Amino acid sequence: MSFLLTRLTSHLSISSTNGTTLAFGPTRRYRAWNACSACRQSHSLVDATMSGEGEEVLVVVGGGAAGVFGAIRAKTVAANLKVLVIEKGKPLSKVKVSGGGRCNVTNGHFPDNMTFAENYPRGHREFRGSFFRKHGSMDTMVWFHERGVGLKTEDDGRVFPVSDSSSSIIDCLMSEARERGVLMQTGKTVTAASVDASGNFLIKVERRTANIVEKIEANYLLIATGGSKQGYILANQLGHSLIDPVPSLFTFKIADPQLVELAGVTFPKVCVKLKLGNVQRNIPELTQVGPMLVTHWGLSGPVILRLSAWGARYLFSAGYEGSIVVDFLPDVHLEEVKSILSRQKLQIGKQKLMNSCPLEFGLIKRFWKYIVEREGVGGDILWASVSNNSLSEVASLLKQCSFHVTGKGQFKDEFVTAGGVPLSEISLNTMESKLQPRLFFAGEVLNVDGVTGGFNFQNAWTGGYIAGTRIGELALSTITRNTVR
Ligand SMILES: Cc1cc2nc3c(=O)[nH]c(=O)nc-3n(C[C@H](O)[C@H](O)[C@H](O)COP(=O)(O)OP(=O)(O)OC[C@H]3O[C@@H](n4cnc5c(N)ncnc54)[C@H](O)[C@@H]3O)c2cc1C
Repeated sequence: MSFLLTRLTSHLSISSTNGTTLAFGPTRRYRAWNACSACRQSHSLVDATMSGEGEEVLVVVGGGAAGVFGAIRAKTVAANLKVLVIEKGKPLSKVKVSGGGRCNVTNGHFPDNMTFAENYPRGHREFRGSFFRKHGSMDTMVWFHERGVGLKTEDDGRVFPVSDSSSSIIDCLMSEARERGVLMQTGKTVTAASVDASGNFLIKVERRTANIVEKIEANYLLIATGGSKQGYILANQLGHSLIDPVPSLFTFKIADPQLVELAGVTFPKVCVKLKLGNVQRNIPELTQVGPMLVTHWGLSGPVILRLSAWGARYLFSAGYEGSIVVDFLPDVHLEEVKSILSRQKLQIGKQKLMNSCPLEFGLIKRFWKYIVEREGVGGDILWASVSNNSLSEVASLLKQCSFHVTGKGQFKDEFVTAGGVPLSEISLNTMESKLQPRLFFAGEVLNVDGVTGGFNFQNAWTGGYIAGTRIGELALSTITRNTVR
């Protein structure tokens, strides 16, 4: 039997048999347990309850954006609070890969919090209140700026580090956490959580690579597990319900071999309407305007990702089958399109239709060829030979081009999860559970998701900030009370 004995004393760290090291200040609430390899059950080895009166412990489950930011904030508000982040993999691993490795930290185009909230298909109603007032996108930019991370806002509002590298964000967060004294344990998974008679949390922690189980007792618990199933299970164990998680932010598979030949073509501005058999009423958000990209399997780009987000639940129940109608010339009225085509017919009647797209449309030649061929007027046909009826059909196709959606893009395109712990079960003023005192949630574990553009990280920063602030305040008042006694 191998023993794990971790004693927590002031500024003392003891390595366990498997090499895990805890650097931790004193706490009066800690138990170390050992998993017996013979019977595969965990046995309490030692009650390492320390005297350390007046000290409080926060355990943060998940070292992603929300967890790390929440931990930093809690420690900033209450320096004497013991803050331990438990991360099953590497901390901030999604930040690392985010924004194509550049990390789209937030969005700088919506200084008005009400408008900012409209970018959350799940959360837009609830976020109209004070949520972003407490820590909005401007606060995020100031926070990083004050810590030496230069940020830039691109034309579409997306905010990136000037370095164009997510490492700048990670380095900043990790160094701030270190300086504040936040403790981090990686390679460990929180597999269960319960509440004892005094309202404290008993947290079961397992190490993937060793047969070791620990139990940690904490006064505060912040669940910031992103879209992980384990996080939902923990929430459930603590009495919360769950809105079924479904993917959001994905590309559309389109069954059209000719379209796929255009892979790589971008359209700076199109208007796309998503039509699904299970949606009969008019939902304004299922029509979106913005850039679109043709991929090897269908369609992508901000406009498609936004539709996938607003339509996430409908698309899921429709089995990701439906259609989209694309207006490739959203700024030109249909009648104007028709008259441009008629004019072109008169002016360059002897030229091939396929080779001469009207300049006014600003479309690339390959796409124009796709449109005329789809209308059956490709080949060597001259402008003068095209019937007015066919030209009218070409105009309609440019304004209302329908594509059959046959599925969603591959797994790697799924950026966020719609669903999670219902917002109605937490107080957005504090991020505290309405069901369990001193239990907090932040980030994607909640039923919140934003469209692309930095909104998902902003939810994580804001949620982490609010939860950390409240936990810090509660800890401060308890610590002060205990000190006075
Ligand atoms: C490829 C990709 C690119 C993205 N790019 C952007 C972007 O540029 N801008 C943007 O705004 N959003 C982006 N997103 C979305 C953004 O990354 C997430 O919304 C954000 O990371 C959510 O933060 P979080 O802290 O809630 O969850 P996460 O970042 O997912 O962190 C949760 C952490 O908890 C850990 N964990 C889970 N369960 C347990 C457990 N039981 N025990 C211990 N640890 C646990 C996980 O390992 C994970 O590290 C991107 C997402 C992906 C996948």
